[in-house]
Amino acid sequence: MTTTPIDTSAATFDSEKLSAAAREHLWMHFTRMSAYQDAPVPTIVRGEGARIFDSFGRSYIDGLSGLFVVQVGHGRQELAEAAYRQASELAFFPLWSYAHPQAIELADRLADLAPGDLNKVFFTTGGGEAVETAWKAAKQYFKLVGKPMKHKVISRSIAYHGTPQGALSITGIPDAKKWFEPLVPGAHKAANTNFYRAPEHGDDIEAFGRWAADDIGRAIEMEGPDTVAAVFVEPVQNSGGCFPPPPGYFQRLREICDRHDVLLVSDEVICAFGRLGTTFACDKFGYVPDIITCAKGMTSGYSPIGAAIVSDRVAEPFYSGSDYFPHGYTFGGHPVSAAVAMANLDIFDREGLNQHVLQNEPAFRATLDKLRDLPIVGDVRGDGYFYGIELVKDKTTKETFDDDESERLLRGFLSKALFEAGLYCRADDRGDPVVQLAPPLIVGQSEFDEIEQILRSVLTEAWSRL
Ligand code: PLP
Repeated sequence: MTTTPIDTSAATFDSEKLSAAAREHLWMHFTRMSAYQDAPVPTIVRGEGARIFDSFGRSYIDGLSGLFVVQVGHGRQELAEAAYRQASELAFFPLWSYAHPQAIELADRLADLAPGDLNKVFFTTGGGEAVETAWKAAKQYFKLVGKPMKHKVISRSIAYHGTPQGALSITGIPDAKKWFEPLVPGAHKAANTNFYRAPEHGDDIEAFGRWAADDIGRAIEMEGPDTVAAVFVEPVQNSGGCFPPPPGYFQRLREICDRHDVLLVSDEVICAFGRLGTTFACDKFGYVPDIITCAKGMTSGYSPIGAAIVSDRVAEPFYSGSDYFPHGYTFGGHPVSAAVAMANLDIFDREGLNQHVLQNEPAFRATLDKLRDLPIVGDVRGDGYFYGIELVKDKTTKETFDDDESERLLRGFLSKALFEAGLYCRADDRGDPVVQLAPPLIVGQSEFDEIEQILRSVLTEAWSRL
């Protein structure tokens, strides 16, 4: 297995002390804290380009852009300077009946970049709030236009849409929800686009796509179209391990939503801002939603922000007379984050990052496809710079691991071994076990090769341990 290079310039931290304080006081997210009782808490202290450095001075390739966030790479001085300038001029003002130039300019720019008549930008501080905002807007919209019964949401199985209780209801991962039931009622699930495990039409992707879109149509009909407000879908579903849409899927879904007067919400919290090589991922697949939810890559993570970008048609009833949207966040559209988002979009333009992803995506795919020769690799799927590698016990039957094996393989070995070998990414078993990859958009062939080589060596070792 590869050993990680030591970068002494970063080794100025007292790792023991940091770990002890973390164990005592830092409640980490989605983290089994007991795992760190006797082990150091991995602590990242610095980033540069596509690399991150830990408190021991070890360097890793950032195979996940932090958490699908750091599109332009780490250590961009100009984004830090944009934040500094804005904080010096106006550090904070809310968007509650007052505006500030950064939110206005960013909203204007996002409306320009968004497709169709998606022209109204409601800022949040992150993705879950954007999803929450979109559901609330959809509910109120139908009340304002005289269809007050339309309030339910259809989303897809295993999809992740965030942790606020509304967004969590929309989420389709039972284990993420079970402790918080009862959640917001009215959120129903339909099939996702996992073609590798297609329950129908496993030999014909277009027929499978029609079936999967129709499954959402069936859910709308089962619930009663008069009660359904919105369908929430990601362009490429992350959870479960990167499910791209089959050809024609979104066109059919758009027709289904139109037929039933149901809003189509494109949850692009991961897929927007170049992850698939376009600013908004719906453009890549040729559909126009009624609302886009986005966050993460908007600032490449240099400051938090999110947004629901809403069509003129849906926003219209909120803009007349005494009606308004009684909803908002103190930090939504924060001036520093908005200024950083503008500077981030400038980098996208200047460096042609979307074109870079479009040019390089075939090479990324081809490099990861090489892993298919390993007995543990069942499927390699994704789009742009966004991939999932599904691990199986038996390639021919596609048999997956039982709970015990999953526990030993993913939590007990893989995540740690990949990290120790110099690759930060994620081994996830919210559906079938997958390794998720989403490197910064600046990388090219040499990083693809490095990722492939580390994965090859660690997955080979994992197989030998089974
Ligand atoms: N929606 C999708 C598709 C996501 O992937 C995520 C987070 O990963 C969210 C919503 C929630 O975003 P946040 O963690 O910023 O609240």
